[in-house]
Amino acid sequence: MADKNNKIRVDFKKNRAKPPRGNDLTRGYKADEAAAADHATGERVRAKGDLSRKRTVTLPADELGETVPGRVLRLFGLYSDVELDDRSIVRCTVRRILKTVSTDERAVVTTGDRVRVVLACAGHEATVESAEPPLIQQGANATRPAEGVIIHVEPRRGVLTRASRNREHVLVSNVDQLVVVMALAQPELKPHLLDRYVAAAIQGELKPIICLNKADLVDPIEFIPIVGAYAQLGIPAVMTSATTGLGIPRLRELLAGRASVFSGQSGVGKSSLLNAVQPDLGLRVREVSDVNQKGQHTTVTAELIRLEGDGGGWVVDTPGVRQFQLSSIRPEEVEGLFPDFRPFVPLCGFPDCTHTHETKCAVKAAVRKKWILDRRYDSYLGLFHGIAEEG
Ligand code: GDP
Ligand code: ZN
Repeated sequence: MADKNNKIRVDFKKNRAKPPRGNDLTRGYKADEAAAADHATGERVRAKGDLSRKRTVTLPADELGETVPGRVLRLFGLYSDVELDDRSIVRCTVRRILKTVSTDERAVVTTGDRVRVVLACAGHEATVESAEPPLIQQGANATRPAEGVIIHVEPRRGVLTRASRNREHVLVSNVDQLVVVMALAQPELKPHLLDRYVAAAIQGELKPIICLNKADLVDPIEFIPIVGAYAQLGIPAVMTSATTGLGIPRLRELLAGRASVFSGQSGVGKSSLLNAVQPDLGLRVREVSDVNQKGQHTTVTAELIRLEGDGGGWVVDTPGVRQFQLSSIRPEEVEGLFPDFRPFVPLCGFPDCTHTHETKCAVKAAVRKKWILDRRYDSYLGLFHGIAEEG
């Protein structure tokens, strides 16, 4: 590891990484009006599963002391808060060499990064209790001395990126799963939109978790087939009610030990669910966003919020992720995002079968035989043709 030799690995220059896709990631998907207002900045967020590319940089050996592993919870300008294994939080600076090697300063260390830290003093007694929203405290915190230095960033996977002005930068790294929240009523369930979110999660190499909320407003029995259909695809689906607490323990289990992003249209109950999982969490998420809306200077900064309790886990909060949208998918990519199609695709008559108009199509045959659900096939066609799925 980094503490035993003098090599560190840093990001390649951006221009050697894959360029962001040029097309509009919100294409074919329209959120409701409230969410649409969030999009006014024209910034786009997407998930990307690729391991980011790294290269190795050599440091003078004597400059590396003992290091400890940690995870970046949030950034404050030049500082970042790093959570160590014992859950203490240490305010860190970033080793200069890490900064100068990259062309994009902001991407050097990002929220969610797994890092190695040299602590300023052995026992790090000076651990900071850091529950305050970062954006408000930035001025005050700037004078606080750092207690550690980040000298190494582990390779990233499961990143959420934001594209603006044709540049793409990482908002948060090492996200494990996307919790797709849909209401069973008010607003009514949109199965095709659900399929679309699930496809986006798979595309971003995030594990999809489906949360069907507001179960108190419907007869849940009616929706069991949907839950079962996803279970067959290996995708956990849970019916919840933030109001009655139904399904919340199961949701908590699904969040345990992982970093999760909540997504879904506004009004489906994301904040309420966060509050149900851990009181004050949704509230806190709201407060941070209000600060942003008052136009204070903020670079969009993501935060990992620690879930209390044995299972732990983190919820990702960022204004960007609130508007997590579906990245555009190329038509030929779509079949790969439908796990239920995979067994049939190789059996199609044409190697480049699109499963739309072709005669010798094994996917369509499977639909006729009910091995693939009509709903899933319709979702496929919708995505394939880039039809808006707002319902
Ligand atoms: P968000 O925009 O996705 O964060 O949704 P909110 O958490 O703000 O919830 C939107 C509305 O739905 C609020 O009026 C909530 O009280 C209500 N709501 C949220 N969860 C539930 C639920 O499980 N059952 C019912 N009946 N209402 C809910
Ligand atoms: Zn086919």
